[in-house]
Amino acid sequence: MDTLIKHSNSQPKVSDISTKVAVAYGDGIGPEIMQSTIRILNAARANVDFHPIKLGRQVYLDGNTSGIDSSAWQTIDDCRILLKAPITTPQGKGYKSLNVTLRKSLGLFANVRPVRSMEPYVSTVHSNMDVVIIRENEEDLYAGIEHQQTQDVVQCLKLITRPGCEKIIRYAFEYAKMHKRKKVTCMVKDNIMKLTDGLFHKVFDELSVEYPEIVSQTEIIDIGAAKLASYPERYDVVVTSNLYGDILSDIVAESSGSVGLAGSANVGSNVAMFEAIHGSAPDIADQNIANPTGLINAAVMMLIHIGQLDVAKKIKNALLRTIEDGIHTADIYQEGWSKKRVGTQDFTQAIIERLGQSPRHLKALNLKNEGKISIPKYKRPTEQKKLVGIDVFLDWQGDDATLIGDKLTQLTNVNSRLKMITNRGVKVYPKGNKFTYCTDHWRCRFLPKNDDTKYTHIDILELLQALYEGGFDVVKTENLYHFDGLRGFSLGQGE
Ligand code: NAD
Repeated sequence: MDTLIKHSNSQPKVSDISTKVAVAYGDGIGPEIMQSTIRILNAARANVDFHPIKLGRQVYLDGNTSGIDSSAWQTIDDCRILLKAPITTPQGKGYKSLNVTLRKSLGLFANVRPVRSMEPYVSTVHSNMDVVIIRENEEDLYAGIEHQQTQDVVQCLKLITRPGCEKIIRYAFEYAKMHKRKKVTCMVKDNIMKLTDGLFHKVFDELSVEYPEIVSQTEIIDIGAAKLASYPERYDVVVTSNLYGDILSDIVAESSGSVGLAGSANVGSNVAMFEAIHGSAPDIADQNIANPTGLINAAVMMLIHIGQLDVAKKIKNALLRTIEDGIHTADIYQEGWSKKRVGTQDFTQAIIERLGQSPRHLKALNLKNEGKISIPKYKRPTEQKKLVGIDVFLDWQGDDATLIGDKLTQLTNVNSRLKMITNRGVKVYPKGNKFTYCTDHWRCRFLPKNDDTKYTHIDILELLQALYEGGFDVVKTENLYHFDGLRGFSLGQGE
């Protein structure tokens, strides 16, 4: 697989300009479903040149902790399109998720996951599901910035940025417009995370006014996910942040019949990567039983992306016809309904034999002119930023909040005064609740000694020095700012 794979088909190509595609065969069922997909692409005369790259398990085990080497990066850079089978991230510390690395390094900010049920041909929880999950792909808890700060406490940083929100939310609206979708639902948890999820919600509200023809609504993620699982017909396009989108799309794909059915596009301004949403399924690897549909659907999305619409239609419609004809892999086989239970290879062959046919009942893919979604460059506005205090996080092994609070209140020779202490976000000083459980991680909020005094970085250094001399173990600080006069930090629960 180290050499360039060209078309085995000697007939004339669909278009004169062939598109270079980097291909990763992946791990587990990856090689089987990729071979199936490439056979179909070749049989349908997709005008692409495949450039195989190595990534995943073997690269990790060869000692590369990121699972990808420089020659693979070079090929991706050269091709700008990547068709990728699932890979296995070895268990254990030190191995970074290759999928997250690829998405973030290549700026693939939008993860697009369409799911449509195929009842009665595929048994499904819902017969009328036709949903597209558009998941932010680079930020949120998946920034992967984690620290252990005390014996008791580990932390993961949730990063949500305005440019990130603007890109993904505008992408969702533009996607809805292009695909004649009627509604975009934003899912957040901003009743709790008022700054991070609050920003996502705010940007959604700001941008939605530019798309009056599309219904826009926002739901809290917990009840939204529950309703999406129960009444998917009420949803059309859903836009959400990274972690919520990851979970939602698996729920939706699995309830459509099998996690093996859905494909996804990871889209950036320069590069795009196409993959099935499922993993490498090591439990069924090398048995010729995996369903290649998810990767084939991803390849169809790739063909649409590179403008080979006729080939995309041909493959998608043959796939639908195969499923309609009851030729099913084990994961979607239903006794009494399916006609034939087949392995990966025979399923592939059945699709190839149906190239040129359309489904009789399922909705055929019918594309006209698919444009490209382009997102304007982010323009950062100028805001007035004012330092108004500091949160100092201490590792303190006591369990009496009054004791540590009184000690910190006695730091009188500095231009900072203790406003409050929280433990896991709940106020414990002054006047905490006697039932609150306290860990060894204390967030101590200091403000200027007098409300009308200016607070500066020198005051912070002076405070940290006094804490050090007082024997306190500072594990982290967060400056408190106002932006254009608005508070840029959350209040403690009970503050
Ligand atoms: P998985 O998606 O691989 O498997 C979950 C279940 O679904 C298994 O029972 C499996 O047999 C079944 N399944 C998945 N795809 C199928 C298909 N095409 N046909 C039939 N059945 C299918 O999830 P997992 O078991 O949690 O993860 C296995 C490995 O995959 C892990 O190493 C994980 O890190 C990796 N993973 C990779 C990706 C990716 O590369 N994009 C995504 C998710 C998980």
